[in-house]
Amino acid sequence: MKKISIVVPCYNEEAAIPIYYQEMKKVLSDMQVSWELIFVDDGSSDQTIKILRKLAAKDSACRYLSFSRNFGKEAALYAGLSNSKGEYTAVMDVDLQDPPELLPQMYDILQNEDYDCVAARRTTRKGEPKIRSFLSNQFYRVMNKLTKTHLVSGARDFRLMKRSMLNAILKMKEYNRFSKGMFEWVGFHTKWLDYEHKERCAGETKWPFKKLVAYSIEGITGFTVAPLTLSAFVGVLFFGISIVMIVVIMARTLIFGDPVAGWPSMACIIFMVSGIQLFCLGIAGEYLSKMYLETKQRPIYIVRESSEGKKNEKANEKAS
Ligand code: UDP
Ligand code: MG
Repeated sequence: MKKISIVVPCYNEEAAIPIYYQEMKKVLSDMQVSWELIFVDDGSSDQTIKILRKLAAKDSACRYLSFSRNFGKEAALYAGLSNSKGEYTAVMDVDLQDPPELLPQMYDILQNEDYDCVAARRTTRKGEPKIRSFLSNQFYRVMNKLTKTHLVSGARDFRLMKRSMLNAILKMKEYNRFSKGMFEWVGFHTKWLDYEHKERCAGETKWPFKKLVAYSIEGITGFTVAPLTLSAFVGVLFFGISIVMIVVIMARTLIFGDPVAGWPSMACIIFMVSGIQLFCLGIAGEYLSKMYLETKQRPIYIVRESSEGKKNEKANEKAS
């Protein structure tokens, strides 16, 4: 029997985990596979870890890793993927917004068709604030214009992939991670399944607007240096404009004399140009800071406790 590992990042998800586990058990027991659920507790401050400990004690197909603090969903995904033992690995949210019913279909496609990965894409953004959908769509447009990596609009992280693709992802050990882009960057053949957007089964979203903006910047800077080129281009453009302006002003002074005027407009121009300079400096700084973090080579996550560790502890206790 083939094995499916399912990686589930959890951050303050005490309410959702039991519901998720029940649903998954139903779906997976109907499939002809052996399976494991790898829960990654991303430094939750609620009862998440207690629930995971109980689950792992009850069902050996449930494993968990618990971080020493909140490292973010990207780190949680990487930790889960690194610990996957299956021939097939899935990634999904714990809030049942990624419908488990799609899993059997995904598995069938990987078995019978020439694909390495099956991923889910939501077709509607129902229940989401309009402004958020708008900005999100704009992000996909900019990202796809600026980078060679094509992101699919509405794509979730929900996907099932073969070992070959997983190994390729695991070779990318960078600190600043943007999984949506990485899944595309490694290539391979991906089939997209459409589904209707669902509400969370319990709890609240862990992605406030501020975090989404940071995530978008991560996506763009992680996959293209186009903003750097663009800022150099803006510099050249403004230099060109200033030359034209100098010529115009000189000609005007020679023809009409020199009436002292234009202070307000001068102030505006200085503000605008220095604003653009600072903005471009900021873009360069963004890349520099990413490089700084990468060169430190800090671990992507730190585990405080895991189901394997607990098992070993118990075995040692018995032995002594
Ligand atoms: N998550 C995480 N660490 C974080 C934030 C979120 O592991 O710092 C997990 C969260 O528990 C959930 C998944 O990432 O399983 C997606 O988060 P959420 O459902 O809040 O995002 P949304 O679906 O609203 O975009
Ligand atoms: Mg969700």
